[in-house]
This record gives sequence, structure tokens and C-alpha cells, in this order.
Amino acid sequence: MLYYCSTNRSVTLNLNLIIMANPNINIKYTQIFINNEFVNSVSGKKFPVQNPSTEKIIAQVAEGDKADIDKAVKAAKTAFARASPWRKLKPSERGVLLLKLADLVERDKTILASIETLENGKPFSGAEWEISATVEFLRYYAGWCDKIHGSTLPSDDGTVVMTRKEPIGVAGQITPWNGPVVITAIKWGPALAAGCTVILKPAEQAPLAILYLAALSKEAGFPPGVINVVPGYGPTAGAALAEHPDVAKIAFTGSVEVGKKIMVAAGNSNLKRVSLELGGKSPFVIFDDVNVEEAAQIAHEAIFNYSGQICIAASRVYVHSKIYDAFIKKSKELAIQRKVGDPFDPKTMQGPQVEQDIFDRAMKYISIGKKEGATLVTGGERQGNVGYFIKPTIFSDVTDDMTIAKEEIFGPVQSILKFDTMEDVIKRANNTTYGLGAGVLTNDINKALTFAQAVESGSVWVNQYGAVSTTAPFGGYKQSGIGREFGAEGLEQYLETKTISIKLTESA
Ligand code: ADP
Repeated sequence: MLYYCSTNRSVTLNLNLIIMANPNINIKYTQIFINNEFVNSVSGKKFPVQNPSTEKIIAQVAEGDKADIDKAVKAAKTAFARASPWRKLKPSERGVLLLKLADLVERDKTILASIETLENGKPFSGAEWEISATVEFLRYYAGWCDKIHGSTLPSDDGTVVMTRKEPIGVAGQITPWNGPVVITAIKWGPALAAGCTVILKPAEQAPLAILYLAALSKEAGFPPGVINVVPGYGPTAGAALAEHPDVAKIAFTGSVEVGKKIMVAAGNSNLKRVSLELGGKSPFVIFDDVNVEEAAQIAHEAIFNYSGQICIAASRVYVHSKIYDAFIKKSKELAIQRKVGDPFDPKTMQGPQVEQDIFDRAMKYISIGKKEGATLVTGGERQGNVGYFIKPTIFSDVTDDMTIAKEEIFGPVQSILKFDTMEDVIKRANNTTYGLGAGVLTNDINKALTFAQAVESGSVWVNQYGAVSTTAPFGGYKQSGIGREFGAEGLEQYLETKTISIKLTESA
């Protein structure tokens, strides 16, 4: 099991790791990666990437636009052409390349984790975990390469019907800044296992670790044009990829708002296949038969991990009225103890928000929470003057009609609501346009399963929160997404099924 968010991960440190984290790492790759070469953008433009802990610019990156997307799509199309070096590889040879890439990521784990911590402010231990998960995803999908096949089907006499699973073609992928490296592996793994070629547009806030990963893909031996990375802004480079007529499929992870634009772009262009992993307002239900201290600890990590900037953050905590006050007391203690600061410091549990806009957005919701009458238990303010740090914030007496209980905050803000009955809490948990994650803590198997079956959510965690596995489908109900990533279902996103019917000239 991997954990997007767990009680034990963000605090797991060892001496080895402390010595290796490198905040002064040299950023080597800042250009667009097409055909296995790093090149400048056609326009010559660059954009800055900032360290959110210091607000200093750490790199100027080539800014891709429509012209660069066109170049990358052309390269990916050529690499996908019939009888190209990539198409001529045996499936098992594709697997070997993915395994090599995984080995190189493992070799350069510290470099990748250090770059990621620099660009998105994730505590180094979390970034290191993310790189380990990247290795697991690449190895998992490497194993699929030579196990993708169709079937022979029952048919009328004298006819043989069989299906073939074929790669969908050139795949466009647009990713966010909060888990840039692992989310890339979650998209490259199945696409490459299926035999597709890819163009990835990373988030403008965090393109650097992905460009390093692109360099590793060349070292692993992927033929030119199979993997392309075009950094740039969403409305320009991202939109050009989503609209491109030669892109057969687009996979997107990000906000609901942009997810809707991606679907429109797909519909307006070539009806490319679309998979979306979007936001959430995940309910976490805590019954009165649990150990309150442990429950508060699990709920604490479930929201404050990576400063609340995770799609499955448990941002609505429903606590049974019998333990409500004790739960608030323990949650407050934990929030006050949570060490916020330099993400390279091994004692740090929470780094900054990724950028000014995301910081402002969280602060806006905090002020709305106060105005609408929620009780501010702790936090609610900026920490320090430099960097986008926010103190872990808890609101109690939150009601379902309040904005902080309805909208995705993407910040370190825990909203705690009170409930009494199963029926009531199911209704309230489902009263949202989202449906990505949900959790329940109880020692009663009947309660756990009743809730797990009734909640409208792609993933449900029982007596834990945030565990994901390479093998288990992950995605959203309702406006939290379309399609599933991870596991065999993730692979299906990159495959077409062809039916071949053969009329036999002689029957047995
Ligand atoms: P977040 O709120 O997490 O930053 P976004 O949905 O804004 O999420 O961004 C996720 C990814 O989508 C980023 O790579 C961003 O550049 C890209 N993006 C933003 N706007 C568009 C757009 N109009 N078309 C395509 N991609 C976009």
C-alpha cells in the first residue's frame, strides 16, 4: 500500500535522508524536451519558477506555446507511426525500458526529491516518499507490457471473432504541481505500457523535477519522440494540447474548472478520449466507538498533509456529538504542535502553500469561515513574513451551508461538523458535487460497511485515510472526475479494442 496521506509518513525520517536532502541542488534542465533533445521555445520566451519557501526565483524555464505543442505532437506522431522503432519493440522490451527508467529514478531519488521540495515546498520526507511511489508505479506498469491481450469470442458457426487491444495513439497529459513526479508516473506508466507516445504539459509552478525525469527517460533508452515534455501555461500550452486534432487522448489532473474546459476542447476538436482526476470535498466520518486521540491524529494528517493541497484532503470531518468536544480538544493540541517551516528541515511537518494565489485563496476562505459564524479553534493566520506559510487552522461548529463546508479550499483548514445518526451523516456526506475520497472510523463493521456502500465516492477508507495502491482504481464520482487511473483500469484508458471477425471458408 502507498499512502497519499497517512499518519506515519510525513514524520518518517532517517539519518540517511537528513544527510542527503539538498536545498542547493543545481537545476540542470530548464528547456522543452522534444525528440529526446532539450530545446528553447519557438518564441524564445521563458517563465520563472519560484521557491515558495523563500519567494526567490530558482529557474527560468522555456515557455512552450501552441507552436511547441505542434512540434511535440509531430514528434510523438512520428514515433507512433507504423514500423517506427517504438512500434517495432516487442511488448517485453517496452517493459524493460520502463524498468530501466524506474531504476534510474531510484538511483536519483534524492536529486528528484530535492528539486521537488524546492519548487513546490513539499516537506522533503513527503517528496522522498513520492519518488518511491513513482518507482513503484513504473515497475507496476512495466509488468503489464507483455500481458495486454484481447480474447476469442463465441460466435455463429463458421466465424471466428477475436479482439485485439491496441494503443490509442498520441496521448496528451496535463498535470498539477502538488505531486508532479508521481502523477507523471501514473500517466506515463499505463500510456507507455500500452504502446502510446506521450506529450506531457507540467504545471507552470513545478516543471523542474519532470524535466529531470525526461532526461532520465532518454538515458533509459526510450526512442526519440516517445516521451515529450512541454512546460508552459495552461491557457496557452495546455489548451493547445487539449485542442490538438492529432492527439487521440487527453489525461488531466487538476481543478474542476479546467477539467470542464478540457472536455469542451476535446469535443470541439476531434472527440479525443478524456480522463479527468479533479477536486474533492472529502467527508471523514468519525463514530463514537473509537479512540478519540487516535481518531484526531488520523484526521489531522488527512487534512494537513502537504498543507491541505491534496485532492483527497479530508476537508469535512463529521464527528459524533458524544465525542465532539474531546475530538476538538485533541485536534487543537495537534494543530498547535504541528511544526510549520523550512521543508528541508527534517523536523518540519508542513511547508508553505505553493504560490501567492493558492495562499490568498486559503486566507480568503479562512476569513469567510469567520464571517459566516464558524468558531476559529486555532490558527487562521500567516506564519512569518517570507514564504507562503499558513498556521494549521481549525474551525468547529461548522454547518453544511457554510462556504468552507462546500468549496474546495486546498489549504491547511480543517472544518469539524457534528452528527448524530448514520442516515443523517450519509445524506450530508453526499450533499456535494464532488465524490473523490471519503473515510470512516468505527469499530463496528456494520457501520463501516453501511457508510462505505452508501457514500458517493471513488475511494473509501475504513479506519485509515488516504492509502492508495498501484493496483487499485483511483478516481472520482460526480464532478471529481471521469475514468479511473491506477491498476488495470488505468491501462484501459490508453487502449482501443478492435474486433476482428473472420468468416471461415471451410467449416469443420
Ligand atoms: P490547480 O488549481 O491545482 O493549479 P489547475 O486546474 O489550474 O489546477 O491546473 C492544473 C493543470 O492544468 C496545470 O498544468 C495548468 O497549467 C493546466 N491548465 C490550466 N488551465 C488550462 C487550460 N485552459 N487548458 C489546459 N490546461 C490548463
